[in-house]
Amino acid sequence: MSIDIPQGRDLHVVRVHRRWGMVNIPKLGKVRFRWTRALPVGKHADKHHRITGARLVKDALGWHIAFRVTTVAPAPAAHPGLEVGIDAGITVPLALSDGESADHGPWLSKREEARLLHFEQCAARRKSHRKKGERTSRRLHRTYDQIARIRATAKRRRDDWQHKTTTALADTYGTVVVEALQITNMAKSAKGTVEQPGRQVAQKAGLNRSILGEAWGRTVELLSYKLAQRGGALAEVPAPGTSQECSRCHTVTPGSRRNQAEFVCNNPACGWEGNADLNAARTVLHRYRTGHALVPAAGRAVVRRAGHGVKPATAR
Ligand SMILES: [Zn+2]
Repeated sequence: MSIDIPQGRDLHVVRVHRRWGMVNIPKLGKVRFRWTRALPVGKHADKHHRITGARLVKDALGWHIAFRVTTVAPAPAAHPGLEVGIDAGITVPLALSDGESADHGPWLSKREEARLLHFEQCAARRKSHRKKGERTSRRLHRTYDQIARIRATAKRRRDDWQHKTTTALADTYGTVVVEALQITNMAKSAKGTVEQPGRQVAQKAGLNRSILGEAWGRTVELLSYKLAQRGGALAEVPAPGTSQECSRCHTVTPGSRRNQAEFVCNNPACGWEGNADLNAARTVLHRYRTGHALVPAAGRAVVRRAGHGVKPATAR
């Protein structure tokens, strides 16, 4: 749920405290909000640096405000950082070609997981007692809200990790190379057709779910604009076969992947063994260096304006 305020003129944003600001919402009046980053307000505002609108966004944990801001920034100098290939890994969320990786723990603690399960069971039980045509009880509504709050907490933690990780990558590296993954196509292709049923459908579906869970597409989107801000660049290379190509000798040997986590080269002259995610990340970088980079799709570069409160997922 979100409400757009298209004009910044009537917002009258003022800072009332180090941590709090006040904003005038049309038809609602003055509302206090958490001040989380610099805004062009008061003596910091001029013709080129000003608030041009806002958006109110609601999630299960409350309301947030994201400000649209116009600023004039000098074009960044070319990023001096190195090139790196990144693979959406199976053993780690992000595997880097230089051997680094970005990992995270579970989004919810054991206790929170248990609470979530408890509320879900509660909701299922209450729902089963409900007679046909009977409206949802207040108790059930409350349980739904409790479930939504825990899920929103997990989502915020994931967003936070994603932002911190992509910012660190954009700060460190000048060029980031990723696979051009078609996530929706992958999810479709595993099932196959009636004439040609797909193999290992369940395993692939599981893999797809985890890729979707890691929100790879959003990671790429965040990297794209954060790199552009710092004078770096995002490059995409064709994905097919990156997990089957050896990163040392570049022979593609179907089935050379011993299991999901380990890669073993079938070429007897090479015989490289190691982490499969690292291998894929190195192959991605190799493809870029040998001139296989794809031209970025039109409109891919996302310019995001300064946000406020929680990182606004809706503000594109
Ligand atoms: Zn090899």
